[in-house]
Amino acid sequence: MKIICIGRNYVAHARELDNEVPSAPVFFLKPETALVTSNRPFPYPGFSGDVHHEVEVVVRMRRTGSRIRKEDAGSYFNELGVGIDFTARDLQARAKEKGLPWEIAKAFDHSAPVSAFRPVQSLGDIHHLSFRLDRNGSTVQEGNTELMIFGFEEIISYVSGFITLQEGDLIYTGTPAGVGPVAPGDRLEAYLEGEKLMDFRVE
Ligand code: MG
Repeated sequence: MKIICIGRNYVAHARELDNEVPSAPVFFLKPETALVTSNRPFPYPGFSGDVHHEVEVVVRMRRTGSRIRKEDAGSYFNELGVGIDFTARDLQARAKEKGLPWEIAKAFDHSAPVSAFRPVQSLGDIHHLSFRLDRNGSTVQEGNTELMIFGFEEIISYVSGFITLQEGDLIYTGTPAGVGPVAPGDRLEAYLEGEKLMDFRVE
């Protein structure tokens, strides 16, 4: 399986990092070794001094497809969860400066914790889902899928025009404003529609 991440999909977050609001989805990949499940702790990596949390709604593909039309994309997924797109912001800033790829800042081991998934049918209108991240008991990021620049269907259609999406692949759909650093000892709790789906520690 693979992990696709969408960047700059919320206007307020694009602006907080001084990025342009994109006219087409921006995406990058993380390998399977980035995945962390079952609320296992996130080991803070020794190569960065500025790892940031990015809470995101995550789509799990339920079947394989390429060149999926936007109007068909809804039949390719039926579960959503939340995840953290951990980012080594210091390494990313250096890569951006030089116009280099982002993998060292984004695709490292354990950089993609993900929650349990919930069936789409149990969530109501998936285009109006609230989600948030609490760090040590205080809310640091709050978002709603209605604020996504590119919606789930548009993302699936766009990405599958370049890369075949396979059953079990995960798509992290972008983070709202409020990204910030984490530190060893932190407790992170992520919620989707008020339900706590993740609760883990940074070590
Ligand atoms: Mg992200």
